[in-house]
Amino acid sequence: VLTWSMLIFWVISILLSYVLARLNMRPILRSWQLQREFVANAAHELRTPLTVIQNKLELMLTHPNDKIMDQTEQITLSLSEVRRLNSLTSDLLLLARSDSNMTQIRTETVPMKAFLTEVSQPYSEIAASQDKQFTEQIDLDRRLTIDKQRIHQLIVIFLDNALKYTDPGDTVTLMARVVGTRWELQIKDTGIGIADADKPHVFDRFYRVDKSRSRATGGNGLGLSIAKWIADSHRGRISITDNVPHGTIFTISFPLTHPKN
Ligand code: ADP
Repeated sequence: VLTWSMLIFWVISILLSYVLARLNMRPILRSWQLQREFVANAAHELRTPLTVIQNKLELMLTHPNDKIMDQTEQITLSLSEVRRLNSLTSDLLLLARSDSNMTQIRTETVPMKAFLTEVSQPYSEIAASQDKQFTEQIDLDRRLTIDKQRIHQLIVIFLDNALKYTDPGDTVTLMARVVGTRWELQIKDTGIGIADADKPHVFDRFYRVDKSRSRATGGNGLGLSIAKWIADSHRGRISITDNVPHGTIFTISFPLTHPKN
């Protein structure tokens, strides 16, 4: 009996390992792990501003007779943390929805020159207010099929970063042009640059090269992962190169031959 049961056990384990090998569990396990890391990181990011708000409110309660005028510093700090929470939760919601394919892409035919000029229009003023320069070179006199809102969001992510990671006196440039069978956007800055070792990771969720600089300028480490999702959803490719002598060039290239273009 023992020999028979051992034989059956042996056959079952061989069958089981064969089935598991065929199923190729590795990508599934990897995606579970990524999902767990995402939730843990999200909880951690949410807790920081919540703790600040809790402390400020508790501090205000220790002086219940103070007039609102005397509490403006606590209120202003709490409000900026609420704003951070607000933008963090909308980024998290967008990524969670994109994971489960719940975010739809709504394409339309767009005159690109007018659209890109409109998107970049506020940046001359924003850059000037930070003692930086903004220039644009838009050579894209075509109508293309895109999700206007999402491509707008993608450009804003790159332009905001370019300004965020440059010092006063630096220049940010937006370029758009056709290259062969593709059209491309290029966001170039003369800022702090990205080390080769960090380049492959900057699109990972919550990845920040310099956490304190990123936090101080309102970053949550999700911008580039959202930009990557938007590019992917338009069959786009993103590359990062160094801007010599210093700075970064992000190039996002899309096929001109969109089914509807
Ligand atoms: P964040 O909200 O921290 O800016 P992102 O996902 O947009 O997050 O970017 C990830 C990280 O990549 C940033 O924290 C920063 O370290 C780096 N980075 C992004 N854009 C630039 C840039 N133009 N120049 C230098 N570093 C950049």
